[in-house]
Amino acid sequence: MITRSPAPLQRHDEAEEPAIATTGTAALTTTADTTAITHVDVPTDSEHTAPLSLPPAWQAQLSGAIRDPRELCRRLGLDERWLPGAEAGHSLFEVRVPEAFLARMRPGDPGDPLLRQVLPLGEETQPTPGYVADPLEEAAHTPAKGLIHKYHGRVLLITSPACAVNCRYCFRRHFPYAENSPSMAQWDASLDTLRNDPSITEAILSGGDPLATSDRRLAWLSERLEAIPHLKRLRIHTRLPVVIPERIDAELLGWLGATRLQKVVVLHINHANEIDESVIAACRRLSDAGVTLLNQSVLLRGVNDTVETLAALSERLFEAGVLPYYLHVLDPVTGAAHFDVPDDEARELVAGLRGVLPGFLMPRLVREIPGKASKTPL
Ligand code: SF4
Repeated sequence: MITRSPAPLQRHDEAEEPAIATTGTAALTTTADTTAITHVDVPTDSEHTAPLSLPPAWQAQLSGAIRDPRELCRRLGLDERWLPGAEAGHSLFEVRVPEAFLARMRPGDPGDPLLRQVLPLGEETQPTPGYVADPLEEAAHTPAKGLIHKYHGRVLLITSPACAVNCRYCFRRHFPYAENSPSMAQWDASLDTLRNDPSITEAILSGGDPLATSDRRLAWLSERLEAIPHLKRLRIHTRLPVVIPERIDAELLGWLGATRLQKVVVLHINHANEIDESVIAACRRLSDAGVTLLNQSVLLRGVNDTVETLAALSERLFEAGVLPYYLHVLDPVTGAAHFDVPDDEARELVAGLRGVLPGFLMPRLVREIPGKASKTPL
C-alpha cells in the first residue's frame, strides 16, 4: 500500500522569504508557511520590548494539532480497544486534529460524526478491489509543477502540501506532494501555463489546504494571478475556516479583500456539528470581504448518510451564509472503502432530501470520473 509522504515541516523555498534579522530575547514564531515553530531573537531595549514577529494565533493552533492516535483516543475517552486500529491507520496517513475541531466532538462516543472523519481505523489497512492511490488520475493532468489542469477554463494550484486536519477519506491521502510543491521561483514558471492560455479564467487554490500556507506567500501568489489579464476568478478550496476559524484574520482578509479577482471560497463541511458560532463568525468575515461562500461535502457512511443529517447540514450552512454546492460520492481511494455509500442509496437519500428542503439548499450529487470534462451528476 502506498503511503502519503508527510507534509514537510520545513519548506525548501523558505529561504526565499525575507529573513527576520533581530537580536535579543527569544520569541516564538512560525516559519513562513509551515507548521514548524522556530525561535527568533527580538530586541530587548526599552523602545522595542514587543516582539517583531509574533505568530498569528491560527499558526499556534496548527502547530498544536493532535498528531498522536493515543492522545486522540485519550482526549476523547475512547477505550483501549480503539488504539491498535488507530495506530495501524496512522502509520499509513498520520493523525492530525486541531483543538478547535476536537472541542466539537462528543467525548466517549466513537460514533461521533466529526471523530469518524479523523479517527484512523484498522480497516484502512485492508486492500479493496477498485480502490487505488490516485482515484482521479490526477498524475496525468499536471502540465507544470504544482498545477492540475483537468477542466476547461480553470486550473488548480497545489498551493500547500499540508492540511490542518487529516480526513481519513481524502482522495489525496497518497498524493505525491513532495513532487508538486514548487518554490516561489518555480511557481513563476508554472504560472506561465495560465499566462499563455487565454481560455483559463479561473485559478483554484487547493492542496493540502491552501490556507495552511502563510499570508505572505498567498499575497505574493494572488498578486501574480491578478496580473494575468484574462483571469477573472480566484477560488479557494479550504477546510481551515471550519477546523481553525481564527485562520480568517485581518492579514488574510487584507490580501484577499484587495484583489481585483472575484473571490469564491468553497468550504468542505460534512456535518452540521462542524458549524459552531466561531465558524459562523469566520464565514461572516469572509462574506464581508466580498467572498462568495459555497460548500462541498462527501457522502460518508456513518457520518452523514441519512436524510435528516444532510437536511440539518444544508440548513446550518445557510445559517452560516454558505450555499450547498456539491455532495460528492466517495472517490475510491485506498484506505477509505469503509466510508462508501452505494450509488443507489445515495440517489435515494437525495430524493428524500428533495422532499424536505427548498431547491436552493439542495447540493448536487456528483461523482468525479477521470477523463470526463466535468463532474458527473448521479
Ligand atoms: S482538508 Fe481536504 S485535502 Fe486536507 S485531508 Fe481533508 S479532505 Fe484532504
